[in-house]
Amino acid sequence: MRLSVPDDSLFGSANLPYGVYSRPGTAPRVATRYGDHVVDLALLLGDDVFAAPSLNPFMAQGHERWAAVRAALTDALAGDVPPEAVHPLADVTLHLPFEVADYVDFFASEHHAANLGRLFRPDNPEPLLPNWKHLPVGYHGRSASIVVSGTDVVRPHGQRKAPGDPAPVFGPSVRLDIEAELGFVVGTGNPMGEPIPVADAESHLFGVVLFNDWSARDIQAWEYVPLGPNLGKSFASTVSAWVVPLLALTGAKVPTPVQEPAVLPYLALDEPWGLDVGLEIEWNGEVVSRPPYSAMYWSPAQMLAHLTVNGAPTRTGDLFASGTVSGPSKGERGAFIELTWGGAEPVTVAGEVRTFLEDGDEVVIRASAPGVGGGRIGFGEARGRVVAGEWTGG
Ligand code: CA
Repeated sequence: MRLSVPDDSLFGSANLPYGVYSRPGTAPRVATRYGDHVVDLALLLGDDVFAAPSLNPFMAQGHERWAAVRAALTDALAGDVPPEAVHPLADVTLHLPFEVADYVDFFASEHHAANLGRLFRPDNPEPLLPNWKHLPVGYHGRSASIVVSGTDVVRPHGQRKAPGDPAPVFGPSVRLDIEAELGFVVGTGNPMGEPIPVADAESHLFGVVLFNDWSARDIQAWEYVPLGPNLGKSFASTVSAWVVPLLALTGAKVPTPVQEPAVLPYLALDEPWGLDVGLEIEWNGEVVSRPPYSAMYWSPAQMLAHLTVNGAPTRTGDLFASGTVSGPSKGERGAFIELTWGGAEPVTVAGEVRTFLEDGDEVVIRASAPGVGGGRIGFGEARGRVVAGEWTGG
């Protein structure tokens, strides 16, 4: 059969993202999305590496193979497609597309870092800490709680203590928030002791996902000193079901903002690159922010080089997220703690006043970027609904 996609589709031939799907009674397999069709790649290309329930075996084959498969996929979709490979998107279940190995979260937006500095350290006249422009600050998170779009997010319980409280208390978080980010999927890693040079980082990066780093601000604010975020983040993070290949984003590359002071040589690129990805945050059906990824200070290549500079190994399926994407203006803030300025400036969302998330609230992050050839390509969505958490810990 011949497949056609409207010219204005975000999932035309310039995109061809990878995901994992199943139908009732069948095991998960790798597919691409073409328009509103899901196309089974093992059947389309006759290659059993795609009969796996995750992208990891394919990603492990390396950059040359990713480029070859993308070319073969483009040709195959332009020709006769076996009908048994094609399913309407609405008829399939989408799964977590890759096995997440290790997960690190960075903090690469100067606007977000400065806003959080003002909110968390109001007495300090300098909102950025002294290291921020010298290295991409990050922390190691929990890969096991990364879930695919559409998974409910249970409000976490934990310990919190507001500055004026006499003692910590325990209970459900009362300041549950989001962080709209991009996540970068490592296709091929590095052996221990052999750092990835910054100029080579791109060839290790398989693709990009949407990422919502759900954050319990009250738990975070009490626990994070001096070792950084832990339980305030590790209860759930949502990724999109489609991994957009970095090879599809050549038309979206843009220079990062000017990096001044100059970075150390191991982070230096002739042309540090970012991505012109426009994000959109929908809260209970209303778009409340449009964060621009192009404003991010650190390049993904610098983040991966920094992640391995001490000799730390990375593996197929490692995921590092960018940190909250926030632009300079209020309508470009990627977290509700910034949008409502720590809860001091409530917003009205779909007719109701909000500071942080209520049970039943739903957040959807979407994004698109320029594709090669003039159109735009989409990332799908990272969707999650907050549900009340019942304490079961005894
Ligand atoms: Ca984050």
